[in-house]
Amino acid sequence: MIAIISDIHSNHEALKTVLADIDRRGIETIYCLGDILGYGPDPRECLDLVMERANFSLCGNHDHAVFYEPANFNVAAERAAFWTRTALEEEPDAAKRNRRWKFLAGLLPRNEMDGLVFVHGSPRKPINEYLFPDDVYTNPQKLLQNFERMNQMTCFCGHTHVPGVFVDDPYFEPPDELGDSQSYAIGDEKAIINVGSVGQPRDRDPRAAYAILNEDEVQFVRIEYDIDVTARKIHDNPHLDDFLGTRLFEGK
Ligand code: ZN
Repeated sequence: MIAIISDIHSNHEALKTVLADIDRRGIETIYCLGDILGYGPDPRECLDLVMERANFSLCGNHDHAVFYEPANFNVAAERAAFWTRTALEEEPDAAKRNRRWKFLAGLLPRNEMDGLVFVHGSPRKPINEYLFPDDVYTNPQKLLQNFERMNQMTCFCGHTHVPGVFVDDPYFEPPDELGDSQSYAIGDEKAIINVGSVGQPRDRDPRAAYAILNEDEVQFVRIEYDIDVTARKIHDNPHLDDFLGTRLFEGK
């Protein structure tokens, strides 16, 4: 079994809760699809946990923004990226500081394993392209082009913070449409599977999201965590917009 996590966004409470759930299930392999950083109050703690626990981690657009430059970010996201950089830079322990920067420098834009492909955004633009559920109706071409670019049958992604499965009709199935088990069986159709967001869900469900891959079965998991603690840290941090805390309660 493999746990696939994404979009942690410096939310230490959510990440700890998800890792505890992964441990409770006896899962030892963890893949991280990026956006460890950005928006949230605990970049150092989240980086350290992902470095320690994940078998690999990809580069998300927010990780990229902290390491290089924010591009096409809104004001709150850009301020958070610059503050995150400062927080990493102000780590007093030089060894820790250097290890984190080195890890960020080495994040992969995409990865392939066992016939599966892993990206943060989309198959053709692995760091930055959003595949939204509405694209099925408003921009089906975008999805079809991405499916055409896939040499593999199955791609895992994050980035939109909305969990679910794109199939190449194109169609989007949220976990709620996948029956009581909220799981999807990887078969002979191409699929792009969004595992959702650990630290900032945006599907109106504030619980932390991740996915478990068990043979050919992908199970979507949701877990409650202590949002109050994360939101309070955001409100207490003058560099982080208060909205970044309140949105956590609404899951948007
Ligand atoms: Zn994200």
